Amino acid sequence: MDKITFLDKTFVKYISEKEIEEATERVAKQINEDYKNDQPILLVTLNGAIVFAVELMKKLTMPCRISCVKLSSYSGTSSTNQVKELVGLNEDLTGQRVLIIEDIVDTGVTYEHMHKMLMDAHAKDVRMATMAFKPDAYKKDLPVHYVALPIPNKFVIGHGLDYDGWGRNLTDIYQVTE
Ligand code: 5GP
Repeated sequence: MDKITFLDKTFVKYISEKEIEEATERVAKQINEDYKNDQPILLVTLNGAIVFAVELMKKLTMPCRISCVKLSSYSGTSSTNQVKELVGLNEDLTGQRVLIIEDIVDTGVTYEHMHKMLMDAHAKDVRMATMAFKPDAYKKDLPVHYVALPIPNKFVIGHGLDYDGWGRNLTDIYQVTE
């Protein structure tokens, strides 16, 4: 399927499942190297990151634990610049290394919010692993440590990413048409 429509928008196939898998493998190798002597907590951001998180964590070789949070900053196809905490932290993160697993980093508002939340929870160290990253949209100074797919500043769906709830189960990534 090269084209798909949800609600008022049409999307075209943009990144194949195979390319995503190869990019995930690359990122997993870096993470395995960087955390080889550590036991991080993987903090998965619901709902979008579930597909990438499952694929990434199966490739990680260090002992690790998994926790989830649910935040929301997007409405339709744009950022609201405000982060709502729908499901918050329920772990003691004192002294822990935390690796956030995201579907996509866009403006960085959500990442900055999470970073502050984790530092306030006395995490030892916080890093970001994301399936997609829009460098042209990013407005923050925090480093984005592990990026599988750098993409242009256009709305995408698939492989966990949605448009108002639709499209998460697409195996490829699709980009919105004008
Ligand atoms: P940020 O706070 O970095 O602006 O946005 C982060 C969140 O916005 C992501 O976790 C994701 O839920 C949503 N988002 C940003 N860009 C896109 C996009 O192109 N497609 C989809 N489906 N969601 C996006």
